[in-house]
Amino acid sequence: MEKKTFVTKEQLEEIVKKYPTPFHLYDEKGIRDNIKALKEAFSWNPGYKEYFAVKANPNPFLIDILREYGCGCDCSSYTELLLSEAIGATGDDIMFSSNATPAKEYELADKLGAVINLDDITHIEFLEKTIGHIPEVISCRYNPGGLFKISNDIMDNPGDAKYGMTTEQLFEAFKILKAKGAKEFGIHAFLASNTVTNEYYPMLAKVLFEVAVKLQKETGAHIKFINLSGGIGIPYKPDQEPNDIKVIGEGVRKVYEEVLVPAGMGDVAIYTELGRFVTGPYGCLVTTAIHEKHTHKEYIGCDACAVNLMRPAMYGAYHHITVMGKENESCDYKYDVTGSLCENNDKFAIDRMLPKIDIGDLLVIHDTGAHGYSMGYNYNGKLRSAEVLLCADGNAKLIRRAETPEDYFATLDCFEIGKKLCEK
Ligand SMILES: *Cc1c(COP(=O)(O)O)cnc(C)c1O
Repeated sequence: MEKKTFVTKEQLEEIVKKYPTPFHLYDEKGIRDNIKALKEAFSWNPGYKEYFAVKANPNPFLIDILREYGCGCDCSSYTELLLSEAIGATGDDIMFSSNATPAKEYELADKLGAVINLDDITHIEFLEKTIGHIPEVISCRYNPGGLFKISNDIMDNPGDAKYGMTTEQLFEAFKILKAKGAKEFGIHAFLASNTVTNEYYPMLAKVLFEVAVKLQKETGAHIKFINLSGGIGIPYKPDQEPNDIKVIGEGVRKVYEEVLVPAGMGDVAIYTELGRFVTGPYGCLVTTAIHEKHTHKEYIGCDACAVNLMRPAMYGAYHHITVMGKENESCDYKYDVTGSLCENNDKFAIDRMLPKIDIGDLLVIHDTGAHGYSMGYNYNGKLRSAEVLLCADGNAKLIRRAETPEDYFATLDCFEIGKKLCEK
């Protein structure tokens, strides 16, 4: 499928007058339409709830939009919990799915009334010691091990993942938790990431529903919800077929009716913790071509770099690039599109065929709405960019300013820009 930008060149030229590049731009209308479609796809399940994975895009103004559609927050750290609290998501609007969890994070999760999803059987004792009790509603994260395959395709390798409990531990954990007073249970698993197939969720659901039936039979625990977590992917590449959320929802419904309903478990709520699927395609990184370099290869140097979008450097991930205003020109120039870090993996694209790029051209790097800004860092003293929302009415709104050098130095004692380091 042809990958189009959600913003026109004319709109972008107006926006950059006010907010200089680089910045992440988000598409409010796209986010709203997509979350409606997600809710609709699971509307057959009365208890359905999406807990947006905050780590994918921790901008409270964006998550506030999702809140209008009844979304909760999936948190995994102290600051993500604080962020949720600030937008009024507390109690069972928070799913706390963490691992290797520090005590003070459990304390805050408990204080906010979050639903706690235990990553490991040893966390039962750790949690009880930390907060002094076992909550009445509690969830356990499951990892069946092995490879997760669809037909003959290996989707991911749960056996090599640090998350979750083995089957044996899961049964044991339910028994212990029940004996300690837990009344309602959840099961959670995340077995494959960024799946671009309509089959992942139904297959995962089958695994979880079958184990849920056994758990209920064997332990007598009342299972309140099954959390299918994240993992529904997006088509980063033009030749990928996007997931059809309606088909995915129906696929899960079919398994629900085959496995849970006959077991008398037709009251189980389905939860999701999607991040990438919810905001990924509705964000882009806008950057300006500021240099061209002709050596052993052809390079275009941008004013953004890997600190603004780490996925290509970290995973070799593909992000589509549109040269604004040259959408219809033929792609007969081969470029490495780079940032300015002193790191050779700081390349948004390698050997990418693009139209001829001129200095000053605006480049749109697609699909940065999830795991984009949020994975940012400060290597080389580079600063995090601004985040701008392209509102449904066409106006652009700054929802996070760019970092300044003052922000970068703020955690140092006795440091002031332009002054000598104080004597201590
Ligand atoms: C990262 C994560 C998610 C979201 O994953 P996506 O790939 O963005 O859908 C959901 N749940 C947990 C526990 C996660 O760690």
